[in-house]
Amino acid sequence: MNQKKEIVLSGIRPTGFVHLGNYFGAIRNWVNMQREFNCFYCIVDWHSLTTHPDTRELPANVIRLLSELIGSGLDPDQCVLYIQSDVPEIAELYLYLNMLAYKGELDKTTTFKDKVRQNPDNVNAGLLTYPVLQSADILIHRAVKVPVGKDQEQHIEMTRNFAERFNHRYGEIFPMPYAFNYGEDLIKIMSLDGKGKMSKSENQMNTLYLADEDDAIRKKIMRATTDSGPVVPHSPKPDYIEGLYTLLRIVSEPAVVDKFEADYNACTIRYGDLKKQLAEDMVRFITPIRQKTESIRADEKYMRMVMEQGAAKARTSAKATLQLVRDAIGLKYY
Ligand code: ATP
Ligand code: MG
Repeated sequence: MNQKKEIVLSGIRPTGFVHLGNYFGAIRNWVNMQREFNCFYCIVDWHSLTTHPDTRELPANVIRLLSELIGSGLDPDQCVLYIQSDVPEIAELYLYLNMLAYKGELDKTTTFKDKVRQNPDNVNAGLLTYPVLQSADILIHRAVKVPVGKDQEQHIEMTRNFAERFNHRYGEIFPMPYAFNYGEDLIKIMSLDGKGKMSKSENQMNTLYLADEDDAIRKKIMRATTDSGPVVPHSPKPDYIEGLYTLLRIVSEPAVVDKFEADYNACTIRYGDLKKQLAEDMVRFITPIRQKTESIRADEKYMRMVMEQGAAKARTSAKATLQLVRDAIGLKYY
């Protein structure tokens, strides 16, 4: 690993099938960053326990997610791809950071308040301290760039607060991390009915997954919400139509996008034709990722090798930080 390159950390929860929102909102950035920086990408299985205590599907979810990440273009030789629970050093750092995190600020976290509202029967301490564990994920590698969506900005700010408190009390160990993206606007992929975003755990018939077969992709797109079309030239697009154009811009040729834009503006748009084109272009986009993912997952020896190699590299980095942390705190008695 090149020591001069900046360190990147990001994670994804093994809570379901990877969809186009995850791909274009996060994973595509990860793939682009792996050549430029020292990247650590983590399947954060401990985080999923805060909201998914039933672990029956966890092993299958972890394995599938790992294969989907590689199928999407992550290269385990170019980045450190590992599973959070393989690195117990993260849990030790989490313990120290918990002493620097105040209940008042954790109570006020937006994501915590949302999850309490969604799941009032399971307000556990792990959920409350989710931002502390996420901080440990980041700080254990002394990462500075954290490619995440808008919803995560507050957590990164909290990470900076915990790091600053640690540095102030025990000595300068941690650089200050910040949320990173490639300067474009953060992309949000809407669900096919235009009601909210594509998601791992909600609205599955209106979410396109990387694991979807060709026919499922066609079927979902053909039944996407549309209307009878604009009647005034150059009308603004309703959300559900804008969502279809977003997908078209992502997977279709520019000339195709231009044609359908012009049709829309001239009020001659035929949504049936647009959907057919979009469905075929989407199949062409998703199929090779799905096939690559399946062949990687079938190679159990390779999968095991990736997990072992990722765990070893991540632990080397984590142990180095933890040694500095223990020394700084003064946990050395003999
Ligand atoms: P869940 O429904 O279990 O919360 P999710 O689909 O929201 O799952 P996360 O694991 O919460 O996925 O998020 C992983 C990454 O994908 C994050 O960086 C998040 O910003 C991004 N992401 C998730 N959904 C979308 C979407 N529809 N459009 C763009 N980015 C998204
Ligand atoms: Mg989410």
